[in-house]
Amino acid sequence: MQNEKKRIEIRNLLPEELKQAMNAMGQPSYRSGQIFKWLNQGVEDFAQMTNIPDGLRDALSQQYYIYTPKILAKQVSKKDGTVKYLWKLEDGNAVETVLMHYKYGNTICISTQVGCRQGCAFCASTIGGLVRSLQPYEMLNEVLYTQIDSGKRISHIVLMGIGEPLDNFDNVVKFLFLVNHPEGLNISMRHIALSTCGLIEKFDKLAKLNLQLTLSVSLHAPDDETRNKIMPANRGRGVDALVQECKKYFGKTGRRISFEYAMIDGVNDTDGHAELLAQKAKTAHAHVNIIPLNYVKESSLKPSCDQRIKEFYEILLSHGVNATIRRRLGSDIDASCGQLRRKFQKP
Ligand code: SAH
Repeated sequence: MQNEKKRIEIRNLLPEELKQAMNAMGQPSYRSGQIFKWLNQGVEDFAQMTNIPDGLRDALSQQYYIYTPKILAKQVSKKDGTVKYLWKLEDGNAVETVLMHYKYGNTICISTQVGCRQGCAFCASTIGGLVRSLQPYEMLNEVLYTQIDSGKRISHIVLMGIGEPLDNFDNVVKFLFLVNHPEGLNISMRHIALSTCGLIEKFDKLAKLNLQLTLSVSLHAPDDETRNKIMPANRGRGVDALVQECKKYFGKTGRRISFEYAMIDGVNDTDGHAELLAQKAKTAHAHVNIIPLNYVKESSLKPSCDQRIKEFYEILLSHGVNATIRRRLGSDIDASCGQLRRKFQKP
């Protein structure tokens, strides 16, 4: 019996890889640029590539395929116009993408994995564990098809949806090169933030790539006792090692790290936490982004009240720490990532 050769999703390929493929097929190199442009315009079929000869279109469809994600659900916030998409992937899994409108541009929050294995106590995305990592084209499609559906040009990306980007390192990096490519969506690295729960063993590898993106570290607690309780990824790594790695990363790349800090009532929001956080932020030369915790119905954790958040913030400022309180967008549409997917796909 003849084994059918497995076809490859062609949007996984960078222009230089497409060029090699063209050469192997005896085609001129410039075809790769034409194909890459079509793919980044959202063609659903090789037949739509009108400047590509018929024979080559046939040959392409023998080796490659194009998957167009389907919208399983779409929610639009009445308050601020934030849009949340639930996409159907080719194997039937689903991930969420959120489109937010800021003064500086349209920002998309993308998922990097189906589910997550990090087990943070406050996070809906991790409840069913990790199903699988996303391929580069699946992350690219989140951006591309959100742009196509919304008709809005996306200028900024945050890797803060479902999943841990550093647990899917190679695919995430390839996605970054794809989405940043001048002949593709051409989104500047400086407009991209990669968020991690602190997988410090990957920091060096990331720093070596010297990407101009912003590394966001989900700190959420400045001491091991508190952090171990809410973030299992801290166990065996520790806050001090994390802070040192952040400092090193800043030293190597010159890019200031941002500490994410979700304020949880009675857990990580005392004056003592604020004082210690100020010290750690200064050591790492980090900016602190305070977020009121989003409610997750499966968890008993609650956000700190507005007054506590303001006092906490004032303590950081009094120590000369660069801090901001993040505006809450999309609170009426299952704001925290993972919640919409859970509604549709019970693990
Ligand atoms: N795994 C990565 C990126 C995905 S989570 C990370 O941990 O950074 C994106 C951000 O949302 C992280 O800062 C995460 O801690 C935060 N987050 C998760 N659940 C939240 C909730 N219920 N309220 C507020 N922030 C939350």
